[in-house]
Amino acid sequence: MLRVRLLVFNAALGVLDYRVPEGVQVELGAIVIAPLGPRQILGIAWEPERLEAQDVPESKLRPILEVLPVPPLKAELRRLIEWTADYYCAPLSAVARMALGSMAALRGGGTTTEYRLTGVEPKRLTPQRAAAMDALHGEQASIRELAELASVSEGVLRGMVGAGLLEAITVDLDKPYPPANPQHNAPTLSEDQRKAADRFVDAVKANQFTPFLLDGVTGSGKTETYFEAVAAAIEDGKQVLVLLPEIALTENFLRRFEERFGVAPIQWHSSLKASERRRAWRAIVKGAANGGAQVIVGARSALFLPYAHLGLIIVDEAHEVSFKQDEGVRYNARDVAVIRARYEKAPIILASATPALESMQLAEAGIYTKIELPARFGGAQLPDIQILDLRKDVPDKGRWIAKPLVAQMQARLERGEQSLLFLNRRGYAPLTLCRNCGHRFQCSHCTAWLVEHRFSQRLACHHCGHEEPVPDACPECSAKDCLVACGPGVERIADEVAEIFPEARVALITSDTMNSPEAIAEFVAKAENKAIDVIVGTQLVTKGYHFPDLTLVGVIDADLGLEGGDLRAAERTYQQVAQVAGRAGRGEKPGEVLIQTRHPEAPVIAALAAGDRDAFYDAETEARRDAGAPPFGRWAAIIVSSEDMAEARDAARAIGGTAPDLPDMLVLGPAPAPLSLLRGRHRFRLLINARRSAQLQKIVRAWLGPLDFPKGVRVHVDVDPYSFV
Ligand code: ADP
Ligand code: ZN
Repeated sequence: MLRVRLLVFNAALGVLDYRVPEGVQVELGAIVIAPLGPRQILGIAWEPERLEAQDVPESKLRPILEVLPVPPLKAELRRLIEWTADYYCAPLSAVARMALGSMAALRGGGTTTEYRLTGVEPKRLTPQRAAAMDALHGEQASIRELAELASVSEGVLRGMVGAGLLEAITVDLDKPYPPANPQHNAPTLSEDQRKAADRFVDAVKANQFTPFLLDGVTGSGKTETYFEAVAAAIEDGKQVLVLLPEIALTENFLRRFEERFGVAPIQWHSSLKASERRRAWRAIVKGAANGGAQVIVGARSALFLPYAHLGLIIVDEAHEVSFKQDEGVRYNARDVAVIRARYEKAPIILASATPALESMQLAEAGIYTKIELPARFGGAQLPDIQILDLRKDVPDKGRWIAKPLVAQMQARLERGEQSLLFLNRRGYAPLTLCRNCGHRFQCSHCTAWLVEHRFSQRLACHHCGHEEPVPDACPECSAKDCLVACGPGVERIADEVAEIFPEARVALITSDTMNSPEAIAEFVAKAENKAIDVIVGTQLVTKGYHFPDLTLVGVIDADLGLEGGDLRAAERTYQQVAQVAGRAGRGEKPGEVLIQTRHPEAPVIAALAAGDRDAFYDAETEARRDAGAPPFGRWAAIIVSSEDMAEARDAARAIGGTAPDLPDMLVLGPAPAPLSLLRGRHRFRLLINARRSAQLQKIVRAWLGPLDFPKGVRVHVDVDPYSFV
């Protein structure tokens, strides 16, 4: 009799053995359906010697029900899943889940019904139907998705089908994708670019794990250069994965890709429609040939998909902290991407103008091959950076833009050039209080101030998403019209610009305003057509954009990022300011950058002003070495939470009380986490600082494994944390 060991999608059960019925073939990695009590569960056939399961006698084994008609997950991917679960102390099933698309995708080919407007325009419409007609222009999707899009009930739409306003379309679920043409619009590369591209292309052809750090200044043509490697992979019939740090950047990327290769790449991210997701997943599994997936661009979740033949991985803006996932499986997609490339025997390119210190260190150690593009393409100069000392140039009361920066903006307006003001803070003001009694508006579920958003006329918590209307009166003292906004957010800066330059056309760019591909495309088109004079934005505007007439960048508060004082504060400030500075002077006209600060003497600000990147990296490296911080030592956090404060505290103390006493590992805490209340849960934290020599994960597992906690307590481990709240 044949036994099969399944990794099942239920963290409590983990691994179960089943019987393979007569005449059925189950390959390793096959995705199968098996019975569990009266229910059915999904599982992946795994090497029995790699997973421990309960010892069940053969006579008691139940047979699996079905092998799903999709290719088995390859050994390379199974090893990646194991590695990730092991490294990040996460359940295997939680990691494996990221490899699967939807249940529909696993079910094989077929057709589905989607709906679209017929174009019939009746004279009289109910308000709901009229709203749906407006919202659904050019859309085609399932009734459920259309209902969501139009914010009406499915019933309304079904009624519209009956009335002939919507029509059903039969769609082939696996419609092939048009192939990319590697020669479509190949640029002539500069000599530096050519050399870099040749190295990448050789590595693609060699089918060898080769990690590259593509370290090129902003505007040096990193994208054009790695596109050559993409072209080589396409020619070889291999698949390419391009990871971007956030969906907001995809729009720009899609456009450039299409210009270069003639067709758009396949997208993978959380806001895909169900049918798009299904089609993309099936194309990814199929491989690059015959209408399969050649190039996939996605957010970090694209990393674990079952590519048939991955020949190249690119991580763009590789320094970005958003590659680190802070919920569920707390993994760093940049780091796991390197491991995936190793298992797949493929090159990987980490591209950045401001690489993470960890990446620099690996390049220095010879583990990564560093490829530099030291100059901007086409002879454009890097911008001139100046410091604006806010202690000397004090802005007027209630203003945040100092006079020298106003003067520079004025000059740009007169010359018909564009300015960009950067402040990494959404909303109008970070804190709102009552003038009468001093009451501060705080989130009722989190240890956080509510942020006023004038744009939506709401007070919002940036941690849990809780929103409430701005009240007319103070909830404490009932005084009317007494609320004062404290400090600036981008909305307030945009207001200030409008007051100072009433004639200027101002665009406000934050995740609140740029929440759809259409909104982003519209902004880019306006900026390119010079229909915008001043852009005010958060970190969303720091990356990817190329506006030749943008010649001035003002950083409103360079000290903001340094306040939190976490491990990477200086590095993040450096990266953000350098990135946003990189938006200036990308065309023929030179750019200028003004950095407003109260701490011009801080090493990171001084390094930015001097344009001395090496000085910054050297100083930061030494500081990290002294502190035993990454990459020289390691951190891990254990976060304990419960809706009941005492329960969370006691559980955290129980963990602290059994902390191992080891020479190469220091345990700090437990203490209330800086964000001690989040989404209604009280949080306590232990921090572990370990030498590189320590077997951190093994120790943590041995430590936490035997402990039992009350049901309401959640304990999670964050290995190599980025967030220290
Ligand atoms: P980076 O990603 O390094 O900031 P980009 O790849 O965005 O740089 O290039 C900056 C600009 O220069 C883009 O508009 C790009 O199209 C252009 N560019 C770069 N290299 C070339 C080239 N070899 N030929 C034509 N245009 C180029
Ligand atoms: Zn909250």
